[in-house]
Amino acid sequence: MNFDALGLSAPILRAVKDAGYTEPTPIQRDAIPPAAKGRDVLGCAQTGTGKTAAFSLPLLQRVDALATDDPCVRALVVTPTRELAAQIGESLTTYGKHLEDLWHTVIFGGVNEKPQIAELKKGVDVIVATPGRLLDLMNRGFVVLDKIDVFVLDEADRMLDMGFLPDVKRIVAKLPKKRQTLFFSATMPPEIRQLAESMLHDPVSVAVAPVSSTAERIEQHLYFVDKTNKRALLAEVLAEDSLERALVFSRTKHGANRIAQFLEKRGVSSAAIHGNKSQGARTRALDGFKSGSVRVLVATDIAARGIDVDGVSHVINFDLPNVPETYVHRIGRTARAGASGIALSFCDTEEREYLVDIERLIGRHLARIDEHGFVASQPAPPMTDLESRSKGGGQRPGGGKKKSSRRGGGRGRRGGRPRRAS
Ligand code: ADP
Ligand code: MG
Repeated sequence: MNFDALGLSAPILRAVKDAGYTEPTPIQRDAIPPAAKGRDVLGCAQTGTGKTAAFSLPLLQRVDALATDDPCVRALVVTPTRELAAQIGESLTTYGKHLEDLWHTVIFGGVNEKPQIAELKKGVDVIVATPGRLLDLMNRGFVVLDKIDVFVLDEADRMLDMGFLPDVKRIVAKLPKKRQTLFFSATMPPEIRQLAESMLHDPVSVAVAPVSSTAERIEQHLYFVDKTNKRALLAEVLAEDSLERALVFSRTKHGANRIAQFLEKRGVSSAAIHGNKSQGARTRALDGFKSGSVRVLVATDIAARGIDVDGVSHVINFDLPNVPETYVHRIGRTARAGASGIALSFCDTEEREYLVDIERLIGRHLARIDEHGFVASQPAPPMTDLESRSKGGGQRPGGGKKKSSRRGGGRGRRGGRPRRAS
């Protein structure tokens, strides 16, 4: 199937072709036709599946068709992080390059608001925003959303994780009731399903590859190692030439800094990216990683969310995440849009129970690397039984709390760590 069959206009098809896309991804194939007709869409798809084009193409087409001389905001995309907002802005530029007189702007916190306000005053058709800064500018009258025709909520489950749901609800309350809504989320926990039900009108549901199955294209390896040897092991695996561009995940910001410093000392070009870095530093790190001057980017989960860099050859889990879905999100940073990739995970003694959760979620065992320079002092545990969790139900035997919450100070995956992008 090619893009011609999706009901998109000629200038948009031309831009898609210019971008080098030959075939729509499954979420694009299923979501674009109804969205282009104006239907609401509930899209369940995980990162790397091509959601941005799935909503941007029909959005641009509709806004273009509705464009009038009357300057007002016709479409709004709300997304949880600055990086995602910036990337969606770039995608709108790419996909909208043959549309004349269609303007969009990107709004997020952590940077001076004045240029954003100046852009808004010039008049824009489309706004891409993170919730906090958007609400702030709405409350002060710089953004008026009463003419919105198309509203997109991207990465809704991540909004929930980051504590943005109340802000999202406040924003939605200001939108016209009669509008098109495109709602995307990688997972559908109950809060998100409720939110979707409250916002969508007779939606077309589209779902691709549940979170646990996308891991299939990725080669996944596991190293049992003592905590104190993790950095040395990292240096060892980075000495491998096939490792072109690696994204290293650290559970903490502090840890990310220390890893990047360690690598720099060893002569490995690296940078850290996390919530405490200034926007300028984050942009520089990301640009360096994209251009290849930074070979290793060390990131925390929130900062890495939505980073879309082609050619990430390896994802390295320096720390194993305590929420198994996070593992899948992380490794999805490699193997973007159909490419294959390699994920390496370092597991210390304390993290062994996280490994059990991860392997049960993805339904397979990570390939053990038994021979390396820093084999753990305790013998490797036996492989876990993958079947002891009912498939898809998310319910653990005994119906108790998720295991992962035991270690998070009793907090579940909502984590009590709300972080604001703005
Ligand atoms: P998601 O939002 O689902 O995480 P993105 O929309 O960021 O995914 O897309 C992931 C990557 O795939 C991007 O690099 C994008 O340019 C690329 N991509 C999207 N659609 C296609 C397509 N139809 N063909 C080839 N590459 C695509
Ligand atoms: Mg996306």
